[in-house]
Amino acid sequence: MLPTHKQTLTGWGRYPAARATVHHAASAEEVQALVERPGAGGIVSRGCGRSYGDAALNAGGAVLSHRELRSVLRFDAGSGLVECEAGISLAELIAHVLPHGWFPPVTPGTAHVTLGGAIAADVHGKNHHRDGSLARWITELHLATPALGTVRCSPDARPALFHATLGGMGLTGAIVRATMQLRRVESLAIRSDTTRAADLDGLLSALHEADARHRYSVAWIDGLARGTSLGRGVVIAGDHATAGESAGRRWASLAAGAAIGRHRVSVPFDAPSFALARPMVRAFNSVYWRAHPTSRDRLVPLAPFFYPLDVVGRWNLLYGRQGFAQYQCVLPGDDAAPLERVLDRVTRSGRASFLAVLKRFGAPSPGPLSFPTAGYTLSLDFPVRAGLAELARELDRLVIDAGGRVYLAKDALLDAETFRLMYPRAAELLAIRAEVDPEGRLHSSLAQRVGLVRHAGRGLPAPR
Ligand SMILES: Cc1cc2nc3c(=O)[nH]c(=O)nc-3n(C[C@H](O)[C@H](O)[C@H](O)COP(=O)(O)OP(=O)(O)OC[C@H]3O[C@@H](n4cnc5c(N)ncnc54)[C@H](O)[C@@H]3O)c2cc1C
Repeated sequence: MLPTHKQTLTGWGRYPAARATVHHAASAEEVQALVERPGAGGIVSRGCGRSYGDAALNAGGAVLSHRELRSVLRFDAGSGLVECEAGISLAELIAHVLPHGWFPPVTPGTAHVTLGGAIAADVHGKNHHRDGSLARWITELHLATPALGTVRCSPDARPALFHATLGGMGLTGAIVRATMQLRRVESLAIRSDTTRAADLDGLLSALHEADARHRYSVAWIDGLARGTSLGRGVVIAGDHATAGESAGRRWASLAAGAAIGRHRVSVPFDAPSFALARPMVRAFNSVYWRAHPTSRDRLVPLAPFFYPLDVVGRWNLLYGRQGFAQYQCVLPGDDAAPLERVLDRVTRSGRASFLAVLKRFGAPSPGPLSFPTAGYTLSLDFPVRAGLAELARELDRLVIDAGGRVYLAKDALLDAETFRLMYPRAAELLAIRAEVDPEGRLHSSLAQRVGLVRHAGRGLPAPR
């Protein structure tokens, strides 16, 4: 067992912070021993800590880092089936498989997440409208549980536990290893279309059109534009280019895949508060909009297409010492009115948010806590300042009225009552937990805040 230490940890948003005993497990047996006997305060798994809020924190308890356990255990370069330890990051996995012509089937906007963390959040990418979330591509898991030992689960073996783990935020057990089906790619190039739209109607019709034609799509919205410009933004869509389409571009050769995820520059220290002042953000958003004129069939490198923010290391320091919170919600269906209400409330709040991100989701996964459901999903970053919780409550009401919910992997602000309204299937997760963790040893600050656990070791809350 590697040395343990007490540490103050945060998520990517640097809000909130929590002190915990950190264990670095060096074998699957150590993972099992830790979830069985975590000590007072319980334990939560942690990957790269790229969830924004408190999902991978456990104030006063223990945190289990999986980063020592990151081997590729099995990779079939013919079929694209890969089995890895859960602590491998997507950047490390990509470096291993991309030179053989394989890429993750679903990837979030950063490659610095672990496979375990991505499974626990059931992450989505720019292709959810076509390929669903990560859950669709995971074929088997090995899960260390407090009550059942380490168990294998899949869509056929212990299916309820399998599905609850995909999106279960680490509350069904510690994922030790996982098998995933990769996607075949022929080059490191993306054939990309960009469409600039002057208002929300134009943006949404461009997004629908992009979804019909392309595997990947995302829209960036100027979160400060108001009135007739409300919702102005840029839709960026694309597909993997074939070897023929990218022939002659040296950077597009698959062998260059090992470089993905490397930072070119890094933010050295907390930004001063003027960096987030409204005029600065307005200027940035305006420049971004102008820099993306409508274009068709451009060949662009894969890394900046999927991971534009990974070029800058520690960009979370740009929000200053107090940190920031990301508010990501899903608004089911194709009705633009709820989206317009949320955007309007945000622009009127006077809280400067850099570019907001809008995507469309397709069909949901089976997991009771999985976030995506068919509709629009909007992400907004807010610096942590007085009044933010009140704004979030107002946005929550708009989201609940629309039948939507907030993404737990980004959240730092939901309360227990609002959580139950947004996640009516939470009782299914509690039923699974009653079987795998009746004493409530798996415990995170997020789970405590939204009422999914009581104090560690004192059993589970009654399902409602
Ligand atoms: C710049 C940026 C862009 C992002 N873009 C997207 C996006 O497009 N789509 C999207 O879906 N998400 C996105 N995210 C969120 C991110 O994908 C998730 O929060 C993911 O869970 C982070 O993985 P991690 O390894 O850092 O996990 P952590 O943050 O360390 O943990 C997240 C959760 O996973 C659990 N967990 C971690 N490892 C294990 C394990 N081995 N076993 C069981 N549970 C475990 C933790 O307990 C916690 O509940 C983004 C985050 C950032 C910073």
